[in-house]
Amino acid sequence: MTEPIDVLVVGGGPAGLATAIRLRKQLAQAGSDASVVVVDKAHRPGYHSLSGASFEQACLDELVPGWRDDRRFMANVVPVEQDDLYFLLGSRAVKVPSRVVPGRMHHEGDVTISLARLTGFLADRAVQAGVEIHSGFAARELLVDDGRVVGVRLGDVGRNNRGEPKANFRPAEDIHARVTVLADGSHGVLSTQLREQFGGGRNPQVYSIGIKAVAQFPGDNPFGTNRVLHTLGYPNPAGVFGGGFMYSMGDKSVAVGLILGLDWRAGDLAPQREFERFRSHPFIASLLRGSVTIATGAKTIPEGGWYALGRVAVPGALVVGDGAGFVNMARIKGIHYAILSGMAAADTIAEGLAAAGAAPDDPVRLAGYVQRLETRGVLPDLRHARNYRAAFRWGIYPGAPLSLVADRLPWRIPMAPDADGTRPGARLDRPDPGGMDGATFVSLSGALHRE
Ligand SMILES: Cc1cc2nc3c(=O)[nH]c(=O)nc-3n(C[C@H](O)[C@H](O)[C@H](O)COP(=O)(O)OP(=O)(O)OC[C@H]3O[C@@H](n4cnc5c(N)ncnc54)[C@H](O)[C@@H]3O)c2cc1C
Repeated sequence: MTEPIDVLVVGGGPAGLATAIRLRKQLAQAGSDASVVVVDKAHRPGYHSLSGASFEQACLDELVPGWRDDRRFMANVVPVEQDDLYFLLGSRAVKVPSRVVPGRMHHEGDVTISLARLTGFLADRAVQAGVEIHSGFAARELLVDDGRVVGVRLGDVGRNNRGEPKANFRPAEDIHARVTVLADGSHGVLSTQLREQFGGGRNPQVYSIGIKAVAQFPGDNPFGTNRVLHTLGYPNPAGVFGGGFMYSMGDKSVAVGLILGLDWRAGDLAPQREFERFRSHPFIASLLRGSVTIATGAKTIPEGGWYALGRVAVPGALVVGDGAGFVNMARIKGIHYAILSGMAAADTIAEGLAAAGAAPDDPVRLAGYVQRLETRGVLPDLRHARNYRAAFRWGIYPGAPLSLVADRLPWRIPMAPDADGTRPGARLDRPDPGGMDGATFVSLSGALHRE
């Protein structure tokens, strides 16, 4: 991969694969054989995707027309028919009447999917379209020359647990590309470097951690099918943003998760233990009765929204998906923004390549990207929810009512970096909730580490 390539996409999640599929198709239609290469650090597509999500599906109609004809993929796509919000208080669960839940938080028309399967499906379509995908390669550094992104430096491959080269050792390579697309997800190494070098948002980016498990029911499924459930309140301390969720995944499985804003105060708050506390709440436990946990995972969500967006188009590079911060926390959704931004990037690059000279060092103009994000509704949605997350910076009780009017506030609610929220010496001293221990949880996540 040392030959200069035309378009390099770093990250093969929904954003990167949407970019690659649409771009390769556009180039083929224009009779161009320009190369589109995806590198992903996971050892196979979808392996780093955290499964079980509620998905706004319309964007797939445009990206992969006829996608519903794929019966294997459709076996895991479940239309949402029941959508509930509960407030958990101690051992009680109070249903929030649907009419008082803001429209943007409803899930009618959505489907629940396995994100890992969606990613695998998109990877197959990308390869069919002529995209090269290289799994198992982590990009480590953005290469910038005279204010222009010219490619990336990969990390070394094949070192043992003492850091010594193994038989399959490959030293770090530089990949030079006319256009580099950063699709490296939440807190991606390269998209973070780009923010630092080219400019971040008016608020710092802030994150939450999402802890998730897939539970399978060998017998009866008390949660039911075609159902999405969200919770507020317990077990999150009143000052911690977030809540729980459960999404049907077919007849016999459910994804269950807990989200906690990373600006919590107490040093002894342990997210995986709080997730077990959530699962042991009598209401949640009753919905999980008889289930077996078959997979686990944890991942951050960039939740700063509109005011945390930095530059997403710079000379030689575009940023798409979570790497750019295209997540709307009012809806806890990012997958369709990842796909929409990927398609916006593809159209911009196709136009730029067509207008640029054929020489590898002729600059490709990428100026139309931001306008396309407007037209495709990504930026308008984020602008509308601009103060949503920040409304919760003082905790859930002032935050919940404030969030209902936050989109009408004419000013920006400032946010501080997450780490500033921690108070030295602050503790919760909560009793251990029992449930799955941390080591078993990690073993079910499929994480591979050098020990
Ligand atoms: C707990 C939780 C629940 C969620 N629920 C929902 C939901 O219900 N609905 C919804 O719409 N959204 C949901 N989201 C958000 C959604 O998962 C993301 O918005 C979406 O996955 C973003 O896609 P992406 O392609 O930008 O990033 P990702 O899906 O994170 O993909 C990034 C890819 O880049 C690769 N990568 C990263 N760094 C490098 C590197 N240096 N070199 C090479 N490869 C790299 C990774 O391996 C990965 O494959 C949820 C997120 C979490 C954490």
